[in-house]
Amino acid sequence: MTMAERQHSCTLCSNRTSTMHMLPKNPEFQIKWLQFIFGTMPQHYNSKLTFCSSHFEESDFFNFGEFSRGFTIKLLLKPGAVPLRQSTTSAHLYNVYYYGRRQESQV
Ligand SMILES: [Zn+2]
Repeated sequence: MTMAERQHSCTLCSNRTSTMHMLPKNPEFQIKWLQFIFGTMPQHYNSKLTFCSSHFEESDFFNFGEFSRGFTIKLLLKPGAVPLRQSTTSAHLYNVYYYGRRQESQV
């Protein structure tokens, strides 16, 4: 797997959605994210790592309910939430993406 450095696309699955989440500033959470991605704490990594929402649980977001009903196009990640999903196989979140994309007509 190559580390794509394009902005606004998911480091893990290359998804492009309106809801991307950057590596947290808090070092404690950063370590958790990096361990999720690399399996261990790497010596070198791209601090601009970006994940799409499919690697998080619905309960990791403040406003998942509003998002899924189309009231907002931006999901807000709770502080301390760490990515848990390795891939985008969650059918439910996939549907949510699709919905989010339709709202974003310029993409
Ligand atoms: Zn992703």
